[in-house]
Amino acid sequence: MDVGPSHAALAALLPPEWDAQQVYDDHEALMLHGQRCCYFRNPACGRCVLLDLCATGQALMSARAAPDEARTASASDRPVQPL
Ligand code: SF4
Repeated sequence: MDVGPSHAALAALLPPEWDAQQVYDDHEALMLHGQRCCYFRNPACGRCVLLDLCATGQALMSARAAPDEARTASASDRPVQPL
């Protein structure tokens, strides 16, 4: 989502009674979360406190687990080579 539409979508989620300082504090918290956990290219979902609430993080965690399961299965299916 582009910046313009994302700003409107996020603003619509904020409590309408929040003042400018509260909106700014929320913005700062989201910026810190992006800098320290929810990285653009490789978010650290495994240690994110929002994982239970985040469909994107849950999908990423499932996708990351799938190759491991496939690698484990294929390794156990290989015949044992004599020494
Ligand atoms: S769980 Fe969601 S919010 Fe948390 S790091 Fe992953 S993508 Fe970001």
